[in-house]
Amino acid sequence: TKLTKEWLQNYVDDWVTFYRKHTKEGEVASYIPLLAQADKRHLGISITGINGMTIESGNVQIPFTIQSISKVFTFIIACMERGISYVLDRVDVEPTGAAFNSIMHLEMKQLKKPFNPFVNAGAITVTSLLNGKTSDEKLVPLFQLLENILGYRPRLNMDVFASEKESSMRNRAIGYYLVEIGSLESDLELTLETYFKQCSIEISLKDLARIGMILANDGEDPKTEKKIIPRQVARLAKALMLTCGMYNASGKFAAYVGIPAKSGVSGSIIAVSPPRARNEELPFLEGCGIGVYGPALDEQGNSIAGIRLLRHIAKQWDLSIF
Ligand code: GLN
Repeated sequence: TKLTKEWLQNYVDDWVTFYRKHTKEGEVASYIPLLAQADKRHLGISITGINGMTIESGNVQIPFTIQSISKVFTFIIACMERGISYVLDRVDVEPTGAAFNSIMHLEMKQLKKPFNPFVNAGAITVTSLLNGKTSDEKLVPLFQLLENILGYRPRLNMDVFASEKESSMRNRAIGYYLVEIGSLESDLELTLETYFKQCSIEISLKDLARIGMILANDGEDPKTEKKIIPRQVARLAKALMLTCGMYNASGKFAAYVGIPAKSGVSGSIIAVSPPRARNEELPFLEGCGIGVYGPALDEQGNSIAGIRLLRHIAKQWDLSIF
């Protein structure tokens, strides 16, 4: 049977309805007070294929802040500004197996640089490498990159930013530690302000799927053939998403879902399914980006229903890169 767009739409609708029941489990993030206002019953998904097909289902209209997903974007920008080897001299590419905001692993004896750019210590280090003398200046290239991909400039949610700043004790602790080991190339306050701002960028599910699709296509816009992200940088970002993107559940996600992804504590996930095969029945096998939003989180800080929905779809559609 040929899977029409309508068939795929109905299929995704059914499974969103099914997994919405799972949003009863888990809790919304509350350590940043403003994130606690999210509605834990929400669940939505957006899928954009390299071939242009888009499927959306569930709560796709709710804007959310990208939180830790921003770590992928600042890493990409730092690599574009400073070069890959410069960045990798300052932050490693190993999973931690510890929570994203763990302090403990920073104290490990031989640690000369943070484990990877997708835990807070590594991300704060990467943010300190960005060019610019103010936080707004540092984020100009990131906003430009997003505008190049999305066609508009996303807004900064100033309320979430203020909330992050007010509840930042742990990130400050990590920051001071990084200062002590000589990791930061910018002043700590400036770096943290930039980091809280990048976490507070607000976008939609459709946007996440589109960014994922560009990464799936190695950084190139399939329509215009414009190189938005250098291929090597896009590939490196995907490797890190696969190994370190889902906090200390990255191994399980790789094993059970099998595609690069990055989550944020807002309950959003960006997933990237690189081209696997030409397949007329299932056009998404030709590569796609997937955005998922479901603010009820598991203990690792990942969207409970979001992961299950992704896992189901990846399995049924055989999206695993392995
Ligand atoms: N702003 C959050 C923090 O640094 C981002 C963390 C996350 O999404 N895991 O605590």
